[in-house]
Amino acid sequence: MIHSISLPPGVYGGPQVQLLFTNALDCDAHPYFDQLRGVEVSAHFFVRRHGELWQFVSCDERAWHAGRSTYRDRTDCNNWSVGIELEGVEGGPFEAAQYETLGSLCAAIAQHYPVRHVAGHEHVAPARKADPGAGFDWPQLQRLLSWPSQCFPEDRLHPPVT
Ligand SMILES: [Zn+2]
Repeated sequence: MIHSISLPPGVYGGPQVQLLFTNALDCDAHPYFDQLRGVEVSAHFFVRRHGELWQFVSCDERAWHAGRSTYRDRTDCNNWSVGIELEGVEGGPFEAAQYETLGSLCAAIAQHYPVRHVAGHEHVAPARKADPGAGFDWPQLQRLLSWPSQCFPEDRLHPPVT
């Protein structure tokens, strides 16, 4: 499952996302962080703007990234999905280096687990979530992976909105 995150939104390169995912973010450090007080979230992976890959949770363990969610009639996506956060803003573009890392990561995960689909947070919780959003290039990811169209969200096989 693909997400986007940056803290505060649109500010890249700092340690805040890693601090959030390790329950170590100082919520007094920025006004935006106030809403994150007491929030317990995690993701398996985080891909920075330059393509650097971080892992926070083993793929054998459950991470808390999807929340209330359903995909293709299966509920509680946290129970059976790998969460990958891309450093970015919801609806904004992502870097070529991030697609390279993401493609390699998805291929590596699929060598170890029976991956059937790649989807965005927006596809599993459409009433609540909109990430990664219209700037994410699903055709680009599909080209990198050479996986069939049925592995990707049905409504996202067009180029991204710029
Ligand atoms: Zn998300």
